[in-house]
Amino acid sequence: MDTKTYQTDVAVVGGGIAGIVTTLSLLDQQKKVLIIDRDEPDKFGGLAKESFGGIFFVDSKHQRKLGIHDNVDLAKKDWFSFAEFGENDDLPKQWAQDYIENCTEHVYHYLLNKGIKFFPVVHWVERGLYQPGNSVPRFHMVWGTGYELARVMIHHLKNHPNSNLLNIEFRHKVTDITSAGGKVIGVCGIIEKEEQPFEVKAEKVVLAAGGISGNIDFLKQNWYNPWGKPPEKILNGSHQYADATIHKAAQKQNGKLTHLDRLWMYAAGVHHPSPNKTNHGLSIVPPKSALWVDYSGKRFGPMPLVSAYDTRYLVEQVCKSGYSYSWQIMNWKIAKKELAISGSEFNDAIRDKKILPFLLNILFGNKKLVRNLTTNCVDFVTANSIEELADKMNALNGNDKVDVDALKASIRQYDATIDRGRKYFNDEQLRRIAHLRQYRGDRVRTCKFQKIDDPKTYPLIAVREFVLSRKSLGGLQTNLNCQVMSETDHEPIPNLYAVGETAGFGGGGIHGLRSLEGTFLGTCIYTAQKAANHISGKQ
Ligand SMILES: Cc1cc2nc3c(=O)[nH]c(=O)nc-3n(C[C@H](O)[C@H](O)[C@H](O)COP(=O)(O)OP(=O)(O)OC[C@H]3O[C@@H](n4cnc5c(N)ncnc54)[C@H](O)[C@@H]3O)c2cc1C
Repeated sequence: MDTKTYQTDVAVVGGGIAGIVTTLSLLDQQKKVLIIDRDEPDKFGGLAKESFGGIFFVDSKHQRKLGIHDNVDLAKKDWFSFAEFGENDDLPKQWAQDYIENCTEHVYHYLLNKGIKFFPVVHWVERGLYQPGNSVPRFHMVWGTGYELARVMIHHLKNHPNSNLLNIEFRHKVTDITSAGGKVIGVCGIIEKEEQPFEVKAEKVVLAAGGISGNIDFLKQNWYNPWGKPPEKILNGSHQYADATIHKAAQKQNGKLTHLDRLWMYAAGVHHPSPNKTNHGLSIVPPKSALWVDYSGKRFGPMPLVSAYDTRYLVEQVCKSGYSYSWQIMNWKIAKKELAISGSEFNDAIRDKKILPFLLNILFGNKKLVRNLTTNCVDFVTANSIEELADKMNALNGNDKVDVDALKASIRQYDATIDRGRKYFNDEQLRRIAHLRQYRGDRVRTCKFQKIDDPKTYPLIAVREFVLSRKSLGGLQTNLNCQVMSETDHEPIPNLYAVGETAGFGGGGIHGLRSLEGTFLGTCIYTAQKAANHISGKQ
């Protein structure tokens, strides 16, 4: 079959949020742009469309309204503390500084100007466990979730005054980057359905094809060594095409890949009730009042696992247990109030901007979600006694790993501490619940010291939770203009750029080891703006 050819000023590979914002900024500068995406047209927007839509900003109007005192120096301290950058991480460090200094002006105000609205309460996530994390709340939720973010940005793209300069081709898989005389001159690939080859000639190429976390085998090959062997089963919570094809194509052009072992995963993944890819997983926002136990029913310790402090620590502990999964034990009351799923799909009240159902969920709990998951998700079991629960947990795994006595002891010890009264709470989880409940955003979503084995709140619920892949913190190394750096001479590769997750969200690893959360969408937008500015000669 003949090769289909395209000619453009800039070829943008990938129509996620990074590719869309790059294109918007290039259209502002009258550049002719071709977006090439492997996916279907209704998936335009990539992972942003599925995302929760929380974005990290520093000293925003929203924070000030809540009386939160934040500043760039504090945010830098928090970021660098969490990142634990290595001594050679010059570009990631420069990117982190640059982003923290500019995210509010260049991303927050940019989005407000585009018509994005944020939820009035700023959430407080990743507070830090063994080192400082977010000293103050910084997670600004887009009202309408990431779905609204993608919708609004796509709307701006389609209605741009220079939209005549834009062409979008879906179902085109880019497999290679083309070059001549040491310069990148385009990309090529295949139109998958027709099996027709295509070629794009472009003055500049921007790689915006997402990360590597959708390729579980590749992720395991790049596993973080100090954690030993990867868990046998890892659920896929990323994009089905985040398969490293583009990273490998850039590597063939001498592009430098770094920090591929820095992965942002979650410890509470469950199987999607209606999967659309192999091992499709959902990430549960782990209820803080649930008891987190290992494969045998023994509570993790001595430091109990509680979310909102250090996501990476949770994943590390599950990996160290030697099993692919752990369990969270709760009851109906806890689940109703605290259980949530990250992303737009299961947060319909927020996604569809329905204030009344949203408030009712907060006041009376999200019964619909709990009913849905306990009925349709294979990883949920319910029971009216601890014995029955342990039996069902074992039946689910087809073994007898859960020791009913260990499970009982874990629950009884925790419940007995609650019974003794607040003055005698000598339990780290309860101390943290007390701390969490001091902040309005968490008080409404966290039970007030709720026992687990409390017949008034039955059924008991056990959730089997796997490690879930999500974001790649590493990627193609880029300089502050988003130019891909060469592996051999450490100079920018002429005409080749990378943005968003493909670039490790900036510099090939802007987060170091850990993210303060909400830092992904924002850095996708910021890297996109910077690449477009450099391409169009605008600083
Ligand atoms: C459920 C969920 C919740 C999330 N919540 C948040 C949150 O609250 N806050 C936050 O900051 N981040 C969040 N994230 C992460 C964030 O959404 C992503 O990191 C971000 O959207 C990545 O954007 P991107 O444009 O770099 O890549 P992607 O969105 O992955 O887009 C890449 C695009 O490239 C295309 N592509 C891939 N390979 C090829 C190829 N070979 N040829 C052509 N096209 C190709 C894909 O089809 C895709 O459209 C969440 C993610 C998920 C899944």
